[in-house]
Amino acid sequence: MAEIISGTELRSAILDELRTEVAAMRAEHGIVPGLVTILVGENPASVSYVSLKVRTALELGFHEVQDNQPADISEADLLALIARYNADPAIHGILVQLPLPPHIDETKVINAIDPDKDVDGFHPVNLGRLLIGDERFPPCTPAGIREMLIRSGTPIAGAEVVVVGRSNIVGKPIAVMLGQKGTDATVTLVHTRTKDLAGHCRRADILIVAAGVPGLVRPEWIKPGATVIDVGVNRIGFNEKTGKPMLSGDVAFAEACKVAGKITPVPGGVGPMTIAMLMKNTVLSAKWHLATNR
Ligand code: NAD
Repeated sequence: MAEIISGTELRSAILDELRTEVAAMRAEHGIVPGLVTILVGENPASVSYVSLKVRTALELGFHEVQDNQPADISEADLLALIARYNADPAIHGILVQLPLPPHIDETKVINAIDPDKDVDGFHPVNLGRLLIGDERFPPCTPAGIREMLIRSGTPIAGAEVVVVGRSNIVGKPIAVMLGQKGTDATVTLVHTRTKDLAGHCRRADILIVAAGVPGLVRPEWIKPGATVIDVGVNRIGFNEKTGKPMLSGDVAFAEACKVAGKITPVPGGVGPMTIAMLMKNTVLSAKWHLATNR
């Protein structure tokens, strides 16, 4: 049976490390990382993501500003708000929770964030830095995947990696990151137009699936002993008892466990790592601002 890579356990280890770093920063320099979370409107999923981020930041000892704005805020007012936080020296990370209401252009908003405070890593400048091997803030979900591979002792250099899905926030950046000099995997990026998806997947020493299709990857698509990272988070029903949605990944988990060497569960896999990486990026940003006196 496959070894389970627990994102919940790894998150807790990473947060412990960050808590120590924050305490040292406060003791040595009298500053702590500052994070603003901007939430527009009251989309229930966004409210719950933001409150988890806020809680985690406070637990780590960050200076945390929770800035909730009404759903009808104008695009110009939101851009002005971002400009204010760009200029605020106590803020090292700016997070705008997506999605935004339809009257606001998300690209404009992402592009308005100072790339040196873009702890989500979505700004084109940071994605460009990633591409040329000058990583500043890696996007949080791909960073979490890489951390899971490293901390679970999965060999990456020379490994055949197959990434299913080519989104800007998961598939494309993780493909670039793992193929980068120093990490040295051989990466294949597959998608909806790929011929023989199963054949590609079967060659993978590391199979990363971010398609958003429940149960897409069947056990016969998995090379025996491979490490499988399931990024998918799909709502497949509602649990009347807990009052919570039932979630499933993109991999047929129970059957895959019989073939894979290591595998991540859903929930409790990549999801918890994403928040840990957001916190890590904010600490990195605070350190960078300290070192460069900005
Ligand atoms: P997306 O929804 O923007 O795009 C999906 C990608 O998968 C596309 O590139 C598409 O070509 C590919 N794809 C879809 N169906 C396919 C199929 N049948 N065969 C091959 N390729 C296929 O992607 P996203 O935003 O990266 O999200 C993917 C999944 O990951 C979703 O379930 C999402 O909820 C989840 N997700 C989880 C986290 C986390 O923190 N755990 C973060 C981001 C996304």
